[in-house]
Amino acid sequence: MRRRIAIIGAGWSGLACALALIDAGRDVTVLDAAPQAGGRARRVQVRLGDRRYALDNGQHLLLGAYRETLALIRRVGVDPDVAFRRLPFALRYPDGVALVARRAAAPWHLAAALLLARGLGWRERLSAIGWMARWRRLGWRVDDDVAATALFQGEPRALVERVWEPLCLAALNVRLADASAQIFLNVLRDSLGGDAQAIDLLLPRCDLSRLFPEAAAREIAACADLRLRCPVQAIERTSRRWRLALRAQTLEADAVVLALPPDRAADLLRACAPADATRLAAIDSAPIATVYLRYPPPTRLAHPVFALRERPQKGDFGQWVFDRGHDDGECRGVLSVVVSGRGPHLELSSACLADAVARQLGATFGLPAPLATSTLIEKRATIVPRPGLVRPPARLSTPGLYLAGDAADGPYPSTIEGSVRAGLAAARALLSDA
Ligand SMILES: Cc1cc2nc3c(=O)[nH]c(=O)nc-3n(C[C@H](O)[C@H](O)[C@H](O)COP(=O)(O)OP(=O)(O)OC[C@H]3O[C@@H](n4cnc5c(N)ncnc54)[C@H](O)[C@@H]3O)c2cc1C
Repeated sequence: MRRRIAIIGAGWSGLACALALIDAGRDVTVLDAAPQAGGRARRVQVRLGDRRYALDNGQHLLLGAYRETLALIRRVGVDPDVAFRRLPFALRYPDGVALVARRAAAPWHLAAALLLARGLGWRERLSAIGWMARWRRLGWRVDDDVAATALFQGEPRALVERVWEPLCLAALNVRLADASAQIFLNVLRDSLGGDAQAIDLLLPRCDLSRLFPEAAAREIAACADLRLRCPVQAIERTSRRWRLALRAQTLEADAVVLALPPDRAADLLRACAPADATRLAAIDSAPIATVYLRYPPPTRLAHPVFALRERPQKGDFGQWVFDRGHDDGECRGVLSVVVSGRGPHLELSSACLADAVARQLGATFGLPAPLATSTLIEKRATIVPRPGLVRPPARLSTPGLYLAGDAADGPYPSTIEGSVRAGLAAARALLSDA
């Protein structure tokens, strides 16, 4: 009898794991509670006034450094050169402060960006160059993990406020004070500190489901077993295998990969792997709010992405704004504004948050009142990458159980690339054990 591997979760991590195991000739069953694959990075239909738009479950941005993700997208027949608009890294504020990478070999692409940065004084620009050079020399490593604020002690305030804090919030979904210095350094090493393409911004030209999950799901359904609307309610050890309790039936498997957010993985492991469950339950999560706003069609920002100055005390909560119409003709006039992490905006109703964001955009860009808005709040969007965070490895302490997803050990915070790599790592661990 062929050994069956059950993968719980058809987000990007579970799908990556499944494809790697299928390529290795394994018998795979993928189970997901939702009616579609893609998990947290998927298309949702958003109603904005009298129109429905194919948008995402929250605005996402990918980077040139997402090597495994790009390879996987190619693997399912989607061409990243067509699916993404690739832009040189740019941190651009509407008030003119701008840091734009140049098309040059590393590290000159970034050095030139910092030297030619607009709106920052010489002290800030030279400090940033010195900071990058210092951490490159130190191998991007801290001996003992601390809060990422410690990395920027003595750095000019304007630089921290305009560059480092916004980058930390965007990449780790927490502020410097709550972020692991080592995880932030890992991100900077592989993006700003990487080759010239690594810091390119990749803006999807279509919704996230069309980038990868739909094609991956089609392939898995065709050559393996994909079961959607199929929540796994419990996992139990039988004498030689694992028994998964589904709604009205059970499924027997020889190995189980949990490609789930930490709280969901902890729930399923409580009875069969209590030590792993306890570690997973201790991982906290942080929210992301995305406000979609529809303006009359001629509305178009000068660039597809701007950083925004957040001033929560004044009701300016938006941190980034994306003009969805730049790359998707169907979305002309639709802007998405991201508010990462915790903050007072979460105390507002969805409508009040959207009003505040519309006011901020009106004051910043001179936009009229939007025709319609819609607010999506993912309360558990990402894990909180606290200093010293310990995540369980791909191979859990009970033989036959594996962990993927953003809860699994890895160098990155919760990102698509982190989840994809964790899925591939779980597949590798499983294959080497088999
Ligand atoms: C609003 C938002 C914005 C983001 N922005 C970015 C960004 O710009 N760039 C970036 O790289 N990353 C971003 N991320 C993070 C990224 O989306 C996630 O890290 C990634 O999608 C997680 O994938 P995953 O496969 O690990 O988990 P998930 O996508 O959570 O997949 C888990 C799957 O398991 C299923 N499931 C749960 N419980 C069960 C059960 N009991 N039985 C069966 N199935 C179950 C769920 O339905 C889900 O499909 C963002 C996330 C959010 C929410």
